[in-house]
Amino acid sequence: MSATPSIAPAPAGPTHTVHGYAALERDAPITPFDFEQREPRPEDVAFDVLFCGICHTDLHSVGPWGQEFPIVPGHEMVGRVTGFGDQVTGLEVGDIVAVSVIVDSCGECEACRDNTEIYCENGPTNTYDGLDRIDGSRTRGGYAESLVAHQRFVHPVPDGLDLAGTAPLLCAGVTVWSPLRHWQIGPDSKVGVVGIGGLGHLGVKFAHALGAHVVAFTTSPSKRDTILALGADEVVVSTDAEQMAAHNRSLDFVLDTVSTGYPMTPLMETLKLNGTLCSVGIPEEFEVSPLIMASRRLSLASSGAGGTDDVREMLAFCAEHDIVAEVETVGPDQINQAFDRLARNDVRYRFVIDMGAAPTSA
Ligand code: NAP
Repeated sequence: MSATPSIAPAPAGPTHTVHGYAALERDAPITPFDFEQREPRPEDVAFDVLFCGICHTDLHSVGPWGQEFPIVPGHEMVGRVTGFGDQVTGLEVGDIVAVSVIVDSCGECEACRDNTEIYCENGPTNTYDGLDRIDGSRTRGGYAESLVAHQRFVHPVPDGLDLAGTAPLLCAGVTVWSPLRHWQIGPDSKVGVVGIGGLGHLGVKFAHALGAHVVAFTTSPSKRDTILALGADEVVVSTDAEQMAAHNRSLDFVLDTVSTGYPMTPLMETLKLNGTLCSVGIPEEFEVSPLIMASRRLSLASSGAGGTDDVREMLAFCAEHDIVAEVETVGPDQINQAFDRLARNDVRYRFVIDMGAAPTSA
């Protein structure tokens, strides 16, 4: 994705200073960064961030995908409500809430009317490095002590869920939940999940809980035992041609979460007639043979990070089935080490920043 240089204005109206963590320029390390955050508008909710996951998208965003620096990343977070505007309903100070990858949308197009706001025809407002629809200021994410967002995109967290493990559900979780539901995965399905990282490990948990037979495809043989513990029925090392051949024409649906381009044709060959490979990893390009697709009437698809209905349905499902992410918690002073390890595929399975461990000033 190419960057569009622009200088967004500061938030309009009353603000307060917030302590956060930012990449000050492209490819720069994450450093403490204070910024101005708006006071809640009538329909806004303000909350202290308790936990914020580190998504692979954060690595892309402080690098090639970044629009305007400084960037305060973070689009999967859980927090405690501290205040709200006078038109907010259904929340109390102290409630536990969560925010996903978008914080606004036009609210009028067909996608928004269907509560699939990630596909807003006028462009959703990204939780970070987006432009606020009202004052044009740059949005700042959850690597910060607090966040303010419109109530429509602030989701109550069901009781009983571990909060650090809940934070990654808001991006990694809903990004795999949404296609599994769209393609109606259930007890009759044989599903492959490719790339067992932040997204993929939740894909395995969800597909298993939905009743599917789950085959996990990994490049990391050392993950085998933990992947089985996540609920996979089988684990296949995708670089082993013999193991791959044993799964030829066996799957209905493959959910691919790999974060980079790689040869996808061997994965396509695991699909039955009319099968679908849904790639949510946003690689630079798709490396797949059209011939194999034609020979089995296969579909190559993709999917975004869901809408507000997906988020709320997923959170309810997670509460019912006691599902949260497997996390390694880090302090804000360890974000750069966590970025390095994530880039090296050295995490089981999601880093989460404990913002309570944040110092109170830069
Ligand atoms: P992650 O934790 O790094 O997981 C990616 C996994 O892909 C790795 O754990 C690894 O699993 C596998 N992998 C890595 N390099 C590979 C290679 N060269 N060949 C084959 N497999 C490889 O990343 P994530 O946070 O889950 O995010 C995955 C991707 O989804 C990122 O690109 C992110 O930007 C994107 N994303 C998309 C959306 C959306 O809206 N569609 C939302 C969120 C994130 P194994 O060790 O098991 O092989």
